Amino acid sequence: MPPVPMGKSGQTLAKGFNQLGWHWWPSDTAIATQQYDGRDRCINLGACGSGCAQGAKASTDITYWPHAVRAGVEVRTRCRVREITVNDEGMASGVAYYDEEGVERFQAAQVVIVACNGVGTPRLLLNSTSGKFPNGLANSSGLVGKNLMFHPYASIQGVFDEPMDGYKGPGVCIWSQEFYETDAERGFVRGYTYEINRGRGPVATALTGMFSGRIPRGEGHHEAYRRLFNRITGMVGICEDLPEEHNTVTLDPDLKDAHGIPAPKIDYTLSENSRRMLDHAVARGTEVLRAAGAVDIITEAPIGVGGWHLMGTARMGTDPQRSVVNEWGRAHDVRNLFIVDGSIFVTSAGVNPTRTIQALALYVADSMKKRLANLFD
Ligand SMILES: Cc1cc2nc3c(=O)[nH]c(=O)nc-3n(C[C@H](O)[C@H](O)[C@H](O)COP(=O)(O)OP(=O)(O)OC[C@H]3O[C@@H](n4cnc5c(N)ncnc54)[C@H](O)[C@@H]3O)c2cc1C
Ligand code: SF4
Repeated sequence: MPPVPMGKSGQTLAKGFNQLGWHWWPSDTAIATQQYDGRDRCINLGACGSGCAQGAKASTDITYWPHAVRAGVEVRTRCRVREITVNDEGMASGVAYYDEEGVERFQAAQVVIVACNGVGTPRLLLNSTSGKFPNGLANSSGLVGKNLMFHPYASIQGVFDEPMDGYKGPGVCIWSQEFYETDAERGFVRGYTYEINRGRGPVATALTGMFSGRIPRGEGHHEAYRRLFNRITGMVGICEDLPEEHNTVTLDPDLKDAHGIPAPKIDYTLSENSRRMLDHAVARGTEVLRAAGAVDIITEAPIGVGGWHLMGTARMGTDPQRSVVNEWGRAHDVRNLFIVDGSIFVTSAGVNPTRTIQALALYVADSMKKRLANLFD
């Protein structure tokens, strides 16, 4: 499909990149720009974050699930799995879960596939203890819950003198991976992607303006708001976090959820490597914005503490001592247990993870299908 339109903000920032001789290209996005599979095309109204009535923005509920349900899959929502159970042979035998009414149930299974993502998956495995697996299921390596990776983000926004139309159309319009590969002279390994994220709608403009001190309360409030609205555009730098064993998901010794299941506890420290990468992203991003004509720059790095991309906590590999699942997603320790989410990532890459998670899920499914006859060998 053709890319989403660059729009005024994409064109403006592309000029900035061109002036500096830095590479960029139109962003791929999970948005249909043509009618596809019963979904209508994007009409560039923006505010995609609050839902897409066109069905252009892809999400699993409108892409994979309808096909799966038509093929006979039963979806049970609002259920919470407490543990994966095992039989005497050490094979997964099913799951104990609480249904929508809070009633405890058991679902027997020949194969268990986990997709609870980088926090939910280790939590579930660590909660699935038994005589055979006292330290949690699939955890003979001790690596379940370790090597948690986020994507530290830097936000670099420019204020321009003219309208940017940044609230029209899907969030990201162009990308640059000018600083994606390792260059030892920069003082850090790996790198980051710039995602040019157009501008902000009315509410986001107000929040950015207030938090950054550019919109005062009381006198001058409206005037300052008007100066910012439709005039902010910029980028985020999404940094490749490194796998570090001390960044972990463990079970909280005290905290439990509403069903009494131990809650996950997250310990994460931003590494010096990621810190330097963030600083680099802010400095170079500022140069792009200045070259594009920005009159003011608003930065934030990292944005919050990160933590909306969750990776690495049940890593994939061929060595059972150094990984949790094998090269096709099967747990080394439990031959009928599979994981298909961000926890099996070994590195995080400086890009959003979901397409890679999907690709891995499809790859694991294909591998299972190919090996169906000898799945349990
Ligand atoms: C604010 C935000 C913005 C994001 N933007 C982007 C983006 O622009 N691009 C991108 O690529 N990614 C983005 N992501 C990341 C993206 O949402 C995830 O990578 C993606 O949802 C992962 O899909 P998943 O199905 O593996 O896991 P999830 O979508 O996290 O689904 C896991 C499911 O498992 C359930 N679960 C967990 N434990 C249990 C249990 N014990 N019993 C039953 N159910 C359980 C959870 O309730 C959840 O529904 C964003 C994330 C956030 C939070
Ligand atoms: S701009 Fe966003 S919300 Fe609007 S049609 Fe396109 S994808 Fe959907």
